[in-house]
Amino acid sequence: MSDLIERLEAQNDLYWRVRNRVMERQQKLSISSIKKDKCRYETRKLIKAGEIQVMPCEVCGSKKTQVHHLDYEYPAEILFLCEKHHRNWHRENDIH
Ligand SMILES: [Zn+2]
Ligand SMILES: [Zn+2]
Repeated sequence: MSDLIERLEAQNDLYWRVRNRVMERQQKLSISSIKKDKCRYETRKLIKAGEIQVMPCEVCGSKKTQVHHLDYEYPAEILFLCEKHHRNWHRENDIH
């Protein structure tokens, strides 16, 4: 009988440990996605205000570009890449 109780307690312990880890992760994710959204918004504002000029793709010179953020702390730290090269960038580098 005490065996069973021990086992249940161990399970409970594991449950809480896993649960805490999942919650921590979720918290981190939601913070970073808020930061990203805010940064994207700031960048759009800078472009609208004419502070940042939309440039052709850094790689191929295509005029249809997307904004790539080098650092979400800084809305002006961006690259302009066309869809294809933006995708390539993300395949070879990490997130953003
Ligand atoms: Zn390109
Ligand atoms: Zn990007």
